[in-house]
Order: sequence, then structure tokens, then C-alpha cells
Amino acid sequence: MEMNFCRRCGSSLANVENHIYKCTKGHVIFANSSPTVGIFFVTEENNVLLSVRGIEPRKGMLDAFGGFVDGAESLEHAIERELEEELGLKKGDYTSPQYLISETGTYSYREEGLPVLSSLYWSRLLVETPEPHDDVADIAIYHLADVPLDQLHDQDIVAGIKTLQDKLL
Ligand SMILES: [Zn+2]
Repeated sequence: MEMNFCRRCGSSLANVENHIYKCTKGHVIFANSSPTVGIFFVTEENNVLLSVRGIEPRKGMLDAFGGFVDGAESLEHAIERELEEELGLKKGDYTSPQYLISETGTYSYREEGLPVLSSLYWSRLLVETPEPHDDVADIAIYHLADVPLDQLHDQDIVAGIKTLQDKLL
């Protein structure tokens, strides 16, 4: 991520090192990544449910269910909220999310690449396959061994699937 102006005083920023910027008045600004959550549902037969993205960026590519963590919520709350928004699921409709891996990625927004830090989980659905809502266009189901890695929307999702394969296959 590149930043040009100080969000505190509007004067120009210089990159000090890595994600640290300093303006001409001495304000220090940190260009940290934004936290996201993603969750994969896996059946007893090792079929994995994936989200088909209904919006840009990378519309039509495969993704975990989930999204950005809101300003003041926990990872657990973000998962619950996103699963209700995207799939209409309640907390009792799936087993407690199990942590898989964290990975960095990039989210393109208005021609800017935003760094994201993705925390990925897996769970088992306790209800029938739900109907997609919100920014999920469809639900794709693949055997965990046959997930097309080149159709996954970013490197964090690839890392999550590979971790699941190591764990369950
Ligand atoms: Zn400043």
C-alpha cells in the first residue's frame, strides 16, 4: 500500500521504512494490513464448500466465506456475522470454527492494492447446504483433493486449502 498524505494534517508523507510513514510535521502513520476472516465448510466425505464471488475484485473466482473484520469486532464475531449475511446461518448451524492458518493477501479496491491479513478457519455444517446471499453468487462444492487452486481468488485462500488438505486427506 502506498500513502501520499498524512491523515492527521494533510501534509505530504515520506516512507520511513516498510509500512511506516512520517509527514513533514512529524506525525507517524502505520500502513498496517486490514484483518479479514475466512471459513471453509468440509463434509464428512471431505467435500469442501466454497463461495463463488459475486462482486469485483475477481468476480466469479472461488473464495472462502467471510470478509473484512469490522472496526471493533473480534474474529469470532466477524465469522458469525459474515456467515449470517452470506448464508443466513445461525451459530448453532455449524460446529465451532477451528483455526487453520493466517496468511497475507491483497484486496484490490478502487485501483489500490490493500494489504489484508486473513485468518482462516474450517467447520462442519450441521444443516443442509444453505442458499447464498449478499456478495456470494453461488456455492461451489469440490472434493478437497480436487479443488482447482488456479481458480482461488488469492494466495491466502490457496494457503488455507493446502493446510486443510494436509490436515484431512
Ligand atoms: Zn501530519
